[in-house]
Amino acid sequence: MRFSTFHTHTCYSDGKNTPEEMLRAAIAKGFAGYGFSDHSFTPCDTSYCMKLEQYPEYISCINGLKEKYAGQIEVLCGIENDYYSDTDPEDFDYMIGSVHYLVIGGTCYPIDHSERQQRECIAKECGGSAVEMAKRYYEKVAEHIRRTKPEIVGHFDVITKFGVIDETSEEYRRAALEAADEALNYTRIFEVNTGAISRGYKKLPYPSDFILRRVLERGGDVILSSDTHSAATIDTFFPESVELLRGIGFRRLAVMTANGVGYTGI
Ligand SMILES: [Zn+2]
Ligand SMILES: [Zn+2]
Repeated sequence: MRFSTFHTHTCYSDGKNTPEEMLRAAIAKGFAGYGFSDHSFTPCDTSYCMKLEQYPEYISCINGLKEKYAGQIEVLCGIENDYYSDTDPEDFDYMIGSVHYLVIGGTCYPIDHSERQQRECIAKECGGSAVEMAKRYYEKVAEHIRRTKPEIVGHFDVITKFGVIDETSEEYRRAALEAADEALNYTRIFEVNTGAISRGYKKLPYPSDFILRRVLERGGDVILSSDTHSAATIDTFFPESVELLRGIGFRRLAVMTANGVGYTGI
């Protein structure tokens, strides 16, 4: 099958390559579609995201690539919209809704950047309880999706990245599933994100099996995302993810197109 990915980063945010380098790598791999989704501006941490004044240049760069490579690959201009951003969806072809921070009492804790920072948030703000942090995170996820209604729910359980949370805990699972149910009321597509595999943090994509089963049960869809930050990892773990999804019972993948959401059978 021909793959596509709609969660990708370039040097406009924290990726290594230019948009055109990424697109050429996708074309070389025979991709059908490619969506750019650089990080939205977050005032609490400007170290990895686009600046607001870069948005017009980013959009016009991607629009130029749409024209240049028309007929070879479908190109879309999206954005990975963080909870703490104020993004106009009209500016982009689609949005991925993600939560990367918990801002508590004026302190910004990145929750997927390093294990040290995640543990600091647990120790200082959550009474030492990883599940408490997870609950706060999932409340933000549910609120973000309800408020912004993005096309795609981004790396839903990214807080499991460092293995700090006990995913077998009933309390944890309840918080995750409640947020999944709420998100599904507004956004039908959850991404299956392989980014932590290519960066060596995880052996399987986000989200975990029990969450994917809930998405299927509730009639939701999945989309394959590499969340790639370099041209070398555009399709990491894609064939394996398709097998995994088939095993759970999914029979189609969502794909973004210029005319809205489409589907490919698996
Ligand atoms: Zn992200
Ligand atoms: Zn990303």
